[in-house]
Amino acid sequence: MNRRKFLAKTLLGLSAMGISIESLALFEQIKIVPNGKTVLVIGAGMAGISAAYHLQQKGFEVKVLEAQGRIGGRIRTNRTTGVVFDEGASWIHHPKGNPITPIAQKAGLTTYRTDDDSVQVFDKNGKPYSTTLLNEYEEEYENIVQKVQKNGIANKSFATIFNELYPQKLDSELWKYFLSAYLEFDTGTSINRLSSLYFDDDSVFEGDDVIVTNGYDLLINYLAKNLTIELNTPVTGINYEGEKVIVQTAQQQHTADFMVVAVPLAILKQQKIKFTPNLPIQQQKAIEKTQMGVVDKFLLVWDKPFWDTDLQYIGYTPTTKGMFNYFLNLRKLSPHNALVTFALGEYALEASQLDNASSQAQIMAHLQTIYGQAIPQPKHFLRTNWQKEPYIGGSYSVATNGTSTADFDLMAQNIAKKVFFAGEHTSKDYRGTVHGAYLSGLREAELIADL
Ligand SMILES: Cc1cc2nc3c(=O)[nH]c(=O)nc-3n(C[C@H](O)[C@H](O)[C@H](O)COP(=O)(O)OP(=O)(O)OC[C@H]3O[C@@H](n4cnc5c(N)ncnc54)[C@H](O)[C@@H]3O)c2cc1C
Repeated sequence: MNRRKFLAKTLLGLSAMGISIESLALFEQIKIVPNGKTVLVIGAGMAGISAAYHLQQKGFEVKVLEAQGRIGGRIRTNRTTGVVFDEGASWIHHPKGNPITPIAQKAGLTTYRTDDDSVQVFDKNGKPYSTTLLNEYEEEYENIVQKVQKNGIANKSFATIFNELYPQKLDSELWKYFLSAYLEFDTGTSINRLSSLYFDDDSVFEGDDVIVTNGYDLLINYLAKNLTIELNTPVTGINYEGEKVIVQTAQQQHTADFMVVAVPLAILKQQKIKFTPNLPIQQQKAIEKTQMGVVDKFLLVWDKPFWDTDLQYIGYTPTTKGMFNYFLNLRKLSPHNALVTFALGEYALEASQLDNASSQAQIMAHLQTIYGQAIPQPKHFLRTNWQKEPYIGGSYSVATNGTSTADFDLMAQNIAKKVFFAGEHTSKDYRGTVHGAYLSGLREAELIADL
């Protein structure tokens, strides 16, 4: 996600979140002193790996149970075409002060500062908009976003308030583009579902976003290197009635003193794990109310570029909002002649029903409008479909209409100091990000260690 934040943000210090800076020291030569306590961590995404890593450092005996045959969850790098294609997370947002930055350095990630202003936007006939006009729109967009938030009402969506304030604007292709390529991309959902009150109340660190160029998976592999992880082990039940927690998988039962549930929100919503006793009612309600947004990525690779390789982004303003309207030019940051485009907002749900040939044809139609009919078909095409992944179920959690951000806190509440919850959806301030997932795992590790 390309997280563009326009509203004034409160910069949340880690200490304000109850997280000690010392605990961010990674793989220092500390002597691990076993404390005789056991922890099961469910899910080997960033949140689960972070929890497991920090618990192990604190002397706990930790085992991670992961449903899939790989670790990383929504961090997944596909190198099958020779291009490094991060199918989930790509950017380290606001890297200054971001806890992912020092880990990325230690893990050998290479990064490139993406320039949001290096963009040319084309209309639906392929004619470029002038930079002056785009700048005017962007400035107005910032004001509009603030005004919507000021007028935001519980149970009214962003689109409802926006339409009340600016009744004609959604007829304009350029406004659809701004609301989609900026806001729907960032939040992961359609403006029709987005809360008008809580769409932008999370926090950011500082500095311009950087994109990882050699694969985000290096980060998770680095953190996981000394952990005990059982792959292909979906958890189906959690019983916390007794003194110990009992975890049921298809293969066997596991028992531990504590557990950290770090599966995606969608898995909790679909009740794929049976909790005995049931989760507290408040927590169940928060899980029901909060939603998982959908953003999908499409990679197209050619032998030679036909676009302006100096541009970081190419924008397009189709009539259908969210339909392949934003292209990330990988040639700008790598030797590869490749573009990545996105399905956003409501259109992301439609795109998830399209087969590869139809989505490729649709994307090519947009590029042909801009660059002419003679452009070649790509030699490689890859796409994601996060919502259809049985152990993920969407892209990132979002404050939709009817939710309050307090729900993200509720989802982070432990039960009886035995069952703890991590995951990007439990991080009110940094939800929907890798650093949010990482910090949630660290937070739970510190809570358990402090008992
Ligand atoms: C398209 C896309 C783009 C993104 N872009 C960015 C970006 O640029 N920058 C950024 O910071 N963030 C980005 N994100 C968000 C970021 O990837 C996530 O917030 C973060 O990776 C989530 O980590 P997590 O550990 O909470 O969940 P996950 O990574 O989803 O991990 C959960 C794990 O639980 C496992 N699991 C599920 N069910 C079970 C079960 N029953 N038993 C055992 N294991 C189970 C899953 O297989 C998975 O491995 C993006 C996400 C997507 C999808």
